[in-house]
Amino acid sequence: MVCAGFSVGVSTVWAMHYVGMSALHLDGGQSSGASGEIPVRFELSFTIISAFAAWLIATVGLHIVNGRDVSKRSLIDRELWIRVAAAASLIASGVMIMHYMGMISQTGPFHTEYHAGVVFASGLIALVAAGVGLLLLSTMPPVMATRLVSAFLISAAVNGMHYTGMQAASYTVAEDDISMIFSITISMNETIIGILVLVADLALYAVCDSYGMQMRQEYEMAARKDLTLQRIVTAAVMSTKELGAAMNCIPATSFMSLEIDCIRERHEGYRKSGHLMILDTLEDVWEAKAAGMFIIFFSYECLAYKQAGPNKLQLRVMKASVQQLASLHGKRMEDMFVWLDCISIPQRNKAMQTASINSIYSFASLPDAMVIVCPESIHLDTQQKADQDSIRDRLWCRVEHLAYCCSRGTSSMYLHCGDVLGPLPDDWMKSVCCVFEAHSTCCRLKHTTTMTCDRKVIVQPLVALYFDVLLRNARGDHDEKDVYAYTLIKENKEKMFPRTYTHESEEGTSERDLFGDLLERAELLVDESMRERGKGNAFQKADVTKHFSVSEHVGIFGEHELSCMHEDVVPPSMTRCQSSAALSTQDI
Ligand SMILES: [Zn+2]
Repeated sequence: MVCAGFSVGVSTVWAMHYVGMSALHLDGGQSSGASGEIPVRFELSFTIISAFAAWLIATVGLHIVNGRDVSKRSLIDRELWIRVAAAASLIASGVMIMHYMGMISQTGPFHTEYHAGVVFASGLIALVAAGVGLLLLSTMPPVMATRLVSAFLISAAVNGMHYTGMQAASYTVAEDDISMIFSITISMNETIIGILVLVADLALYAVCDSYGMQMRQEYEMAARKDLTLQRIVTAAVMSTKELGAAMNCIPATSFMSLEIDCIRERHEGYRKSGHLMILDTLEDVWEAKAAGMFIIFFSYECLAYKQAGPNKLQLRVMKASVQQLASLHGKRMEDMFVWLDCISIPQRNKAMQTASINSIYSFASLPDAMVIVCPESIHLDTQQKADQDSIRDRLWCRVEHLAYCCSRGTSSMYLHCGDVLGPLPDDWMKSVCCVFEAHSTCCRLKHTTTMTCDRKVIVQPLVALYFDVLLRNARGDHDEKDVYAYTLIKENKEKMFPRTYTHESEEGTSERDLFGDLLERAELLVDESMRERGKGNAFQKADVTKHFSVSEHVGIFGEHELSCMHEDVVPPSMTRCQSSAALSTQDI
């Protein structure tokens, strides 16, 4: 603004005045006794002060116009008129003040008088021309043509005022040289003034254009980041209200006879059997449960990089758990169902897989029991021992345990180490709740096999979890499980939801954004939900979607960028039951 103010105040108004004044030749005439042209000099201090006055006033005027929100460019409202009127008045006053200070700075053997009516007319011309120029600048698309027309009109304001103002002045030859108080006078050279302001303007334009481009890029990046974050929190909240992907369960009658080879064929292979129980909506799940359906969620450590699902020993333990839970809860085998990630989550279609991963909080919160399967075993690739200590250190396992615990409590969580199904140890959740302190395969392999770190992938489900626990607490749900979940989060919030994480790659490590301000955004939605509840409205989709409007950002980003952003939000990552194209059939 200071640079733009210089261009308008000094380069345009001040320089125009003194270049224009060089066109003035005062003829002494014969009657006065003088002969030939009367020399005109300019008083130094007034000449300098008039330049600074024009600079300052033009800067303030342009600042007023620039203060308007860019998104309102096409809108003609009261605010626009007020801003343009105020800025045009300032710029017109700036031109007038500069011009008449410049006139006063003239020294020589003459008197100057002004015609009030013409002075007023000169001000009016400056006001109207500057107003039209600023109006165009504020409302037309920000392209070069707009700037050129606006610059022409503002220049017309300056010139119109100047030459009309000159009509108001009449000079009378005097015998004495009428000097100013400070009486240091200079003569002005229009060529030097012209060249100086031109060079200064070009230099300022180059600097400001590059700075402006940088500012624009920073603004666009910030807007893009804000949109991405809001989309994550919105999607997270929605995932607590409806299933983002179908909940696929395996009937226990089929599961009990499932061979390890069938497990290796994952979701797509099992789907062909026709046994998969597909529940499309939350209502479907509730209906099925009301009819007696009992779902078991199995959490286990994947013990091979390129092999999906549990190993033979883990599968055997899972089958034993189904039988024990059926007898424990007095259920028929026909009512028992199993949720097992490699079969329940689509593995080949990446969009469906991502949708399922983003719904992991719902998937973990709907089953009737969670069994943590951790018989002593060996990891096929690392040869490291696997047991109930190693499973606590796995990222995805911690997510599952936390999700189940925060939704259903720990009373229906079981541990099966190979011998017998037992209750969850008391210290378990405290040892696994800080999910991001666990290890993940993607990080261990330094992200050579996946683009996106699993730590980023689980952000959205964990925001869903955070929102759900907070909302239940705000709503006054104070069951044992609700209080347990709320206390767990309250005591470990910073470690459970870190703002950044250290990303490891072959090139080295770098600190990257993780939750950022997502929790604060989720808290705002909880507050809003409670306000809506206070008004008697149920929590509706509109409540979360109204927090950002895609249309507001289309002006900044095209449709293409928006679709790219969507991909950023739901990165096509894989789960721990990921499988490379060269899936091995090797088993342990
Ligand atoms: Zn990673």
